Amino acid sequence: MPNQIRFIFFAPEKHLTNAINIFVITTLFYFFGASLRLVDELSLFWPLNAVLAAVFVRYPFLNRPVYYFLSYSAMVVYDAFTTHWGLQSAVINFSNMVFVIMVARLLLRYSHVQNENNWALNAFNLFYFCLIVSIISSLIGSLGSLGASSDYRNFLSLFADWFSEQFSTGVLILPCLLMAKWPQWDKTSVFHLSKLYPLFGVVISVVASVVIGGAGSLAFPLPALIWCAIRYPVPVTALLTFLTGGTEIVLVANSIVDIHYQQPLVVNEMFSARLGIATMAICPLIVSVSVDAINRLIKQTSLRADYDYLTGVYSRSGLYEALKNKVPLLHLPKQKLCVMLLDIDYFKRINDSYGHECGDVVLSAFATHIRKSIVEEGLVARLGGEEFVVVCSANSQEQAYTIAEKIRQSIELTAFRYQQQTLFITVSIGLATAESENKTLLDTFNPLLAQADKYLYLSKRNGRNQTSTAAVEEIAFNG
Ligand code: GH3
Ligand code: MG
Ligand code: MG
Repeated sequence: MPNQIRFIFFAPEKHLTNAINIFVITTLFYFFGASLRLVDELSLFWPLNAVLAAVFVRYPFLNRPVYYFLSYSAMVVYDAFTTHWGLQSAVINFSNMVFVIMVARLLLRYSHVQNENNWALNAFNLFYFCLIVSIISSLIGSLGSLGASSDYRNFLSLFADWFSEQFSTGVLILPCLLMAKWPQWDKTSVFHLSKLYPLFGVVISVVASVVIGGAGSLAFPLPALIWCAIRYPVPVTALLTFLTGGTEIVLVANSIVDIHYQQPLVVNEMFSARLGIATMAICPLIVSVSVDAINRLIKQTSLRADYDYLTGVYSRSGLYEALKNKVPLLHLPKQKLCVMLLDIDYFKRINDSYGHECGDVVLSAFATHIRKSIVEEGLVARLGGEEFVVVCSANSQEQAYTIAEKIRQSIELTAFRYQQQTLFITVSIGLATAESENKTLLDTFNPLLAQADKYLYLSKRNGRNQTSTAAVEEIAFNG
């Protein structure tokens, strides 16, 4: 994978590296959260817990008491150096670990297959898990730190602040980290400014919420984010939602977006703002996930419709699509379009003698053989049962006949294997050719198929294992 760079932070067998990295990440994000502390002990934005939970989810082998303990130790050590919390630090950090471990365990438990698609489908779970776990961990944290906080904070407001912070940060950061992957730039696609419109929409709506203000302004970015969800991949939407939500929290906290005019920001406004932002954040994510699922489904069903499931060659509808869209090579001037209809001889006997499964194996091998034996720009399709069509181009009718005969002879000589059995089959071919002239490929193809069918019938009637075409006697005579 050329443009996939991977940093290996963690590996199941590298215990020391894992331990060091867990310690470093914990300390780093602890430092980051602590530097954002707005009032005394409580941080405005505490990303550590969500980041750690994401790490434990993405690397399930880290979910061991020793790594949990290391994380916890890093927090306590940091506090020991930077605060005078003493025993309370043990309780507060315990509440952090409750969040980390519970969220990680819940997400791991309720995702059966660990891949990014599944994470996307779990977007709703994530919302509820964060809600429940935030309540529990904040209860522990706010009870444990009651004494450490300043006097004006009673328990309820402390809890409200703590809970809303944990919840909103979890809902904003976790999807982003769980779905993060290195972008893969499609070098062939052309960049259009219009691709950035949803992004502009987000920026403009955030600016509008600053200008207009009020509680309602927090919902302004929602339509733009849903627009992003429809236009961009899930990880990008998750990132933009996180950035927007984070920006809004910072704007509200610094009263740049005023949701309360009379008095300076108090805990309860922040509480409501955070909950509102978190609730908003889940909407684009769910839209994004749904759009992703729909696109995947469309791709899957069209793949199913365009290709024959058993043999892997085009289905009838796939062949028509291909003829409509992408075969300029078949359309060269002066070239003849050849349509060969192939029907395996006495195929019923194979099913009757060796079973239906054997018939399937032979059909699949037959199709592979045909596909390999025709030139690159030819098309192979299964029209149904043991009837196939080959569409290709040739310089002349003679050349077309030669191609058909080559196919027929090579099938006759091929040993098909099924379990211990070796089977030989023959095929009858009806061939029709014509110049495309000014008609579309499809318009040329349709009457040729009907002709080929007639000649196939002729081949069968004349004893099978042969190719019939308009001037077959003539060709055979000349050749
Ligand atoms: P001939 O064409 O030479 O006249 O004889 P035939 O026995 O090949 O002709 P017929 O069209 O009567 O039989 C085709 C058989 O192909 C009937 C059916 O059992 C079998 N068949 C059709 N589709 C499949 C398939 O997907 N798998 C298997 N195993 N058999 C199939
Ligand atoms: Mg047949
Ligand atoms: Mg048949």
